[in-house]
Amino acid sequence: MNSVSSRSKFAMTGLMLLVVIASTAAGQNKSPVAPSEQAYNTILKQAYDNFKNDTTGKNADYIPALAQVDSKLYGIAIVTTDGRVYKIGDVDQPFSIQSISKVFTLALAMEEQGAEEVFQKIGSEPTGRPFNSIPAVVDMPTHAGNPYVNAGAIATASLIGGATADEKWNKLLAFFSKAAGTQLSLLEDVYKSEAATNTGNKAISMILAKYDRIYADPFESVDVYTKACSVGVTANQLAVMGATLANNGKNPLTGEQVIKRENVPHILSAMMMAGLYDGSGGWAWHVGIPAKSGVGGGIVAVMPGKGAMAVFAPPLDEAGNSVKAQKAIAYVADQLNMNIFSPASVGLR
Ligand code: GLU
Repeated sequence: MNSVSSRSKFAMTGLMLLVVIASTAAGQNKSPVAPSEQAYNTILKQAYDNFKNDTTGKNADYIPALAQVDSKLYGIAIVTTDGRVYKIGDVDQPFSIQSISKVFTLALAMEEQGAEEVFQKIGSEPTGRPFNSIPAVVDMPTHAGNPYVNAGAIATASLIGGATADEKWNKLLAFFSKAAGTQLSLLEDVYKSEAATNTGNKAISMILAKYDRIYADPFESVDVYTKACSVGVTANQLAVMGATLANNGKNPLTGEQVIKRENVPHILSAMMMAGLYDGSGGWAWHVGIPAKSGVGGGIVAVMPGKGAMAVFAPPLDEAGNSVKAQKAIAYVADQLNMNIFSPASVGLR
């Protein structure tokens, strides 16, 4: 071996060592294709400015309290798996988590019962019907459909262990709070408003009972579910909850392992198929990021291994998805190559 090649071999080994040290120092949770802080800040501001004055859509009003929320509120937060937080707009304004709670109710049910048991009991097929469809409960093979339609979510809430409905609710609230890294609480006005008007969900629970697809008292399960939907979160807190999923179930800010890592792909795959109601197929086609929407105006999008983005803006489209949130997430995803179906999302061009 001549001295030039042995020198270059030595240099190569040194370089490889440096790369290993550098990537370890950057932290195991930093994605190798993570955008720079400056890129995040610039693109976040563009996403905010581009859609700030968009007045398309309208607040949900079938839950009367939601119609009262200021429809101009708009906030965007991104939390990365290495614990960085980027935010702009009304990111500290609490709003009701609504259907996004279904993601974390599913996560707790799987913690307690195991993923396969939950899959057998609830299912994971898209219904192709509105999220609160009563005919779908009759027609779907598991009747519950999937964990992100009302029937599936009420059935999933009925799986949470506890001697009383209160005990189940408190467990859910504690679990959501761990994912958010802070104590969350119930928005009483939203809860009372929905509890006074949720005859459709009560009907769903009785049909589930007819098919033996609800696993606790039907009306009590609807009540636990309604409370879960009425938990208040800010866009900032919701982004932390999403980042916990992006980070293999470990909250990147508190370091707590909240969700078993093996359950995360099940949670995200269900989001991909049914996270945005009847807009889920279009969302997968155009944006390609697992996300979950709520009629309170929030959407959380999870970029596995990278982080999560949460947007709050109350006006909804026909399917029930926040108009500005969809546009802001689609913009950021496109600018930062976050579409998980694109090889560019892992740095391959
Ligand atoms: N609590 C709402 C309901 O049951 C949740 C709807 C949603 O955000 O999709 O109708």
